[in-house]
Amino acid sequence: MSIQRASEKVSAFDIAQAQIDAVGKRLDLDPGLLEILKRPNRELTVNFPVKMDDGSIKVFTGFRVQYNQVLGPFKGGIRYHPDVTLEEVRALAAWMTWKCAVIGLPYGGAKGGVICNPKEMSPGELERLTRRFTSEISIIIGPQKDIPAPDVYTDAQVMAWVMDTYSMNEGYSVPGVVTGKPLVIGGSKGREEATSRGVMYTTREAARNLGIDLAKAEIAVQGYGNVGYNAARLFRQEHGSKIIAMSDSRGGVYNPNGLDPEEVMLHKAKTGSVIGFPETDHVSNEELLEIDCDVLVPAALEGAITASNARQVKAKVVAEGANGPTTPEADKILFKKGITLIPDILCNAGGVTVSYFEWVQSLQHFFWSFEEVKKRLENVMVKAFDEVWEMAQKEKVDMRVAAYMVAMKKVVDAYKIRGIYP
Ligand code: NAD
Repeated sequence: MSIQRASEKVSAFDIAQAQIDAVGKRLDLDPGLLEILKRPNRELTVNFPVKMDDGSIKVFTGFRVQYNQVLGPFKGGIRYHPDVTLEEVRALAAWMTWKCAVIGLPYGGAKGGVICNPKEMSPGELERLTRRFTSEISIIIGPQKDIPAPDVYTDAQVMAWVMDTYSMNEGYSVPGVVTGKPLVIGGSKGREEATSRGVMYTTREAARNLGIDLAKAEIAVQGYGNVGYNAARLFRQEHGSKIIAMSDSRGGVYNPNGLDPEEVMLHKAKTGSVIGFPETDHVSNEELLEIDCDVLVPAALEGAITASNARQVKAKVVAEGANGPTTPEADKILFKKGITLIPDILCNAGGVTVSYFEWVQSLQHFFWSFEEVKKRLENVMVKAFDEVWEMAQKEKVDMRVAAYMVAMKKVVDAYKIRGIYP
């Protein structure tokens, strides 16, 4: 993953390190301690064979990066994508570290990936790849050590294969080794919509602080997948907000009178896109970001809001459903414009929070109701939001810097109290 800036390409890990440097300075961290935070603890690269359907053998490369474990076991998703690189996985692992810390989960950060194109692979090939990759990384994962989860192009089925392969080697079922599993083998109720629910809770808190009435708010959503769709649905169902625009990779639709997210999803399921939904105007993805609205939810890809379009953003609140949708330059522009940005590591952390709940339930073999999951998620998200909001007010910084300050401070305090760093 790389984010395009005006003239240069900056790798995701460059950005991750620059963020650590900037916040480290604000926290006045010792340079040695800063060096610890800027590097992953452990990196494993594996090359492994998979028998393809046509009988040929293909060798795939995969990674597991364990970034930091001072607050607890490593935690992070596994991504299947042709563009996966060690550098990208490293950055994603660093961000998981700060995400878990800012939310207050007892986890460190990790990430994994395999260079492959799942769209061109059969279910059988994907299963064999997953089992072999699991076997290769099983020397460093485990319910007390490192707990993978789904990420781009991996899902509950892939997690079931990881859990089964790990369990076969242990000789008994180990549901706590992964999260994002199907319900029948120890998944958690509410996981599907958890990220969007977290987006809604944090936006609700921001709206309350800013005096915005969500019942009258107009909301635009970029990206109409799991996160974008569920966020639109929950804002409307639970607050009566007006969803005036949404988009997918092909473009978007706009109706100032409001749209029914579930109807739009049915249309997308039938036609493959939100485009063409009755009584809407077409908007491009670029135009959607510039719509006059109260809340903008970028829930598609990284690098959507950049230095070139940030000045045109008119929303009062930007709620980052996606990971990394705003570039560092755009951050500064939005802050100057007085727009409140709820940063990804806080805003979309509902998913990893319910993953944590799933892990707790799997370890205890005791499962919670949907109501209980929702209540606990709300408590966790509101507490984390308040901490970041307070830090932003106190230090007069934007919420992303504040979130990093809260997160890095927790990690540093843990190092100091554990005596790892004298
Ligand atoms: P998804 O694959 O379900 O949906 C992605 C959506 O974005 C699709 O509707 C796709 O058409 C659309 N899209 C793709 N390219 C686009 C473009 N150029 N412009 C506009 N829309 C485009 O993915 P998801 O699970 O909803 O994840 C979305 C984002 O949220 C990602 O950044 C992901 O890392 C992040 N995220 C997801 C979770 C989760 O629990 N699913 C948790 C945290 C963060």
